[in-house]
Amino acid sequence: MNVLDSEMVVASLRKHGYRLTQDPGLADTILFNTCSVREHAEEKSYNNLFHLKQLKLKHPDKIIGVIGCMAQKDQKAIFDRVPFVDLVVGPGQLHQIPSLLEKVADGQGQQLAVSMNRRDGTQEEIRRSHETFDPLRDPEMRPTPYQAYIRIQIGCDKFCTYCIVPMTRGPEQGRLPSQILTEARLLADQGCKEITLLGQTVNSYRFTEDTRTWRLADLLVDLNAIDGIERIKFVTNYPKDMTRELLEAIRDLPKCSPYLHVPAQSGSDTVLKRMKRGYTTADYYAMMDRIHEILPNAAIASDFIVGFCGETDEEFQDTITLVERCRFKNSFIFQYSVRAGTKGAELLEDDIPEEVKKRRNHELLEVQNRICLEDNLPFLGRSVEVLVEGPSKLSLRQKEEGPIVQMTGRTSCDRIVVWQGNTRQAGEILQVTIDDVTGFTLFGTVDTFETTPELIPLTIAKSK
Ligand code: SAH
Ligand code: SF4
Repeated sequence: MNVLDSEMVVASLRKHGYRLTQDPGLADTILFNTCSVREHAEEKSYNNLFHLKQLKLKHPDKIIGVIGCMAQKDQKAIFDRVPFVDLVVGPGQLHQIPSLLEKVADGQGQQLAVSMNRRDGTQEEIRRSHETFDPLRDPEMRPTPYQAYIRIQIGCDKFCTYCIVPMTRGPEQGRLPSQILTEARLLADQGCKEITLLGQTVNSYRFTEDTRTWRLADLLVDLNAIDGIERIKFVTNYPKDMTRELLEAIRDLPKCSPYLHVPAQSGSDTVLKRMKRGYTTADYYAMMDRIHEILPNAAIASDFIVGFCGETDEEFQDTITLVERCRFKNSFIFQYSVRAGTKGAELLEDDIPEEVKKRRNHELLEVQNRICLEDNLPFLGRSVEVLVEGPSKLSLRQKEEGPIVQMTGRTSCDRIVVWQGNTRQAGEILQVTIDDVTGFTLFGTVDTFETTPELIPLTIAKSK
């Protein structure tokens, strides 16, 4: 979500004559796009801000801004904690950044633009105060020009007890289908081959227009028909809304990737209840059965929180059991971090010691890593279809030169593949035969096909 927001902000600032630099010393304006999901992310943002103190003292004209979820959550408190910040803009107000920057430059002082808090107005007023900001795209800001995110939903109404997102990103709202489709066509025209639809619970997408209600499956049908788009992914999914209808749409639409990120968060019913996730482990297992029945080749990924309030050893062991049974393609594992403003912070005690959280994190990660390796081994000798992203991280780190470097790409089920290849392959869809694997990466060689030698006709002019 934040990568996409940054792309939009840069695109809109470019329209206003700004240029992008990677050097804070050269910049007239420095904006931090921030995350509030865990305390650690916020601490990192504050530390980065404190580091700019000397620079700001030397160059008081440099404008420093904090945008995104931490801006919405901490609001004015950011000016108290870091008094040299000029601008604080929440994720629902990003469209205002160019005009607010002008006000700061004009000497009008610190500028704050945030959306309404969730308890401070009617549902409709709060909804309107969180505006989507998706009109401008900037291919240069994307991880690769062939892949792009499209937001189809903002906000969240699930209110899991640990989570700050419903407060920072506001009420759940689906975007207009026609806007989503126009944006996808624009991206296809810009050369984008893979789109990833974004929403906090993307498969709960719903939009009613006149008498028709659109669900995610309906959007997928229309997106699948766009020339130039080769792959469609969507994150993040909510287990309860992984319906048979949606799974059948994925099966029947050739461009939809059978990759499903659908966080379980815990394998214990009592913990899920305290988290207010709205499903039981039996519901989750039933969903897994549904996925395997309809999409036998699906790769499923999950998120887990370890050390949630009151989590006993037995409850944690239930999570290990769930991971063993579900065999996820990968799992993101987080240690619980209490977030002020959530029901968890208000009603539950953050009583699991740090070292227990850490130990459980390691234990779960070890189980997941073993599964990753075991499930990658059958790929040995297989040919997989890869969308080429470009030179690998290793190749960039080692500053490899010349056209033949280590290249990287992904399969449609989101596995990372690496091979020695040509930089000109970027953006192509290729077959790669796998000859080595780790838990995280498949290594291989590009399949080459025998072709008849081309005949080059030579026209020889007779000399007079
Ligand atoms: N909307 C997504 C999650 C967004 S937050 C979903 O419902 O799946 C991304 C992940 O961060 C969550 O899945 C959860 O595992 C983790 N997370 C959220 N709040 C957290 C907290 N307070 N402490 C630790 N991890 C948290
Ligand atoms: Fe947070 Fe739960 Fe909403 Fe995901 S579904 S964003 S975890 S409140």
